[in-house]
Amino acid sequence: MTDSPRFETAAIHAGQDPDPATGAAVGPIYQTSTYVQEGVGRHRGYEYSRSDNPTRRALEACLAALEEARHCVAFGSGMAAIATLAMTVRFGDRVVIPDDVYGGTYRLFDQVMGSLGLRYDTVDMTDLAAVKQTLGDETALVLVESPTNPRLRILDLRALAELAHAAGARFVVDNTFATPYLQRPLRLGADAVVYSATKYLGGHSDLVMGAVTLDDDELAERLRLLQNSAGAVPGPFDSWLVLRGLKTLAVRMRQHCANAERIAAFLREQPAVGRVHYPGLEDFPGHPLARGQMDAAGAPLYGGMVSFETESEERALRVCESTRVFLLGESLGGVESLIEHPARMTHASLEGSGIEVPATLVRLSVGIEHPDDLIADLGQALG
Ligand SMILES: *Cc1c(COP(=O)(O)O)cnc(C)c1O
Repeated sequence: MTDSPRFETAAIHAGQDPDPATGAAVGPIYQTSTYVQEGVGRHRGYEYSRSDNPTRRALEACLAALEEARHCVAFGSGMAAIATLAMTVRFGDRVVIPDDVYGGTYRLFDQVMGSLGLRYDTVDMTDLAAVKQTLGDETALVLVESPTNPRLRILDLRALAELAHAAGARFVVDNTFATPYLQRPLRLGADAVVYSATKYLGGHSDLVMGAVTLDDDELAERLRLLQNSAGAVPGPFDSWLVLRGLKTLAVRMRQHCANAERIAAFLREQPAVGRVHYPGLEDFPGHPLARGQMDAAGAPLYGGMVSFETESEERALRVCESTRVFLLGESLGGVESLIEHPARMTHASLEGSGIEVPATLVRLSVGIEHPDDLIADLGQALG
């Protein structure tokens, strides 16, 4: 291997040297909870798999390499990663999240962290003046997503990092939608990046996992302590599956993006479709920002998520229930295309919050099937 392998190369080799014991090209799944010690306290760095496991360690090394980060800490789910990050702030602190945010993240701060004394504010993060007004002395953490879910709004990550830091807060980006192949928030000023590895990183809709990547040694040490102390760790087999998924992340993302671009263009031409939300559309409000920050692959790529508005909730529900190739289901980022109704499915926890998503909205996770089949499927569902 070269000193600084490129993304596609690191995805296949980082943290994955051939097994020294057998020469196996693909690392073993260390499906074990404990490790035999040669004498009391004399071991080879592994004692118990909540604390550390070689398969999980390999995954963390690979994901850190892809992010060009010093550290990666893996968790049992994306929510476990976010909840553990939330444990790094103190009683009485405030967290600021966007008003267009993953429903589970909203629920965590609204229904769980609140009772532990952690307060939160939501704000439209496309409005930097409003963000500035919301930030205060007590703000300890600003957690954002870009593109946002489900409206694919693009946030100015560089500007938000500056605002958060000026207020003395940590700036964390949930990069689940973009993946490190398209966007590197650490380079744009983020202190940490969080992933639901359930989505594109795993890429095959067959596991649930999360991770945090970061450069900050002190915060990494704290997260390692919390990983072991709170114990929201992924198992060895799931770690191995994500390692396997990462190997094809770049080629999958290129196809997700190409298919999504075609579908967004198709939807735009449909009389039954209102606004199409896709950062790759040139007249999409966030397009210029996306072009400047979703460019880690060497040229801008706009992701595999598309959402669109229909004329009524009935119509949105009918479309969701009429596709044959697009499967009706929550989640995203797998090779198979998914369709869903955010207001009643992924974002149902926002009901009554004042930041509900419109009931006329349909969200697509565009897979890597042949784009003509996907377009034909949407055509008949809209027809
Ligand atoms: C799915 C998702 C999460 C939560 O991840 P899980 O692995 O389901 O716990 C967090 N953020 C975003 C943007 C997601 O899409």
